[in-house]
Amino acid sequence: MVTLRAVGRQAGMPTYEYRCNNCGHELEAFQKITEAALTLCPQCSQDKLERLISGGNFVLKGGGWASDNYGTPKRPPKTDGQQADKMDKAHKKSAEDAKKAAETKGKPAA
Ligand SMILES: [Zn+2]
Repeated sequence: MVTLRAVGRQAGMPTYEYRCNNCGHELEAFQKITEAALTLCPQCSQDKLERLISGGNFVLKGGGWASDNYGTPKRPPKTDGQQADKMDKAHKKSAEDAKKAAETKGKPAA
């Protein structure tokens, strides 16, 4: 059983990436995990779509490409980038707060 909660993206709707084995067309789809995988390529109308898993922690059966693709984004991230930016800022803020708190606490009352 895979827990999607650990992924930390928008709740509920994971993004699935598909790539067509026939024409190489790539697309993203928001789907519930319970929904059936897409197979029909909108580009060439062939039944050749293969689902790639993005943003997940789980390993695809028969893996291999997963570790190869990981960390080498093929295209500029859009919404993902914004999210990461937001998260980064949130991180920095809490880190600063923690630092301030530590400083205030740690200063000798001279
Ligand atoms: Zn295609």
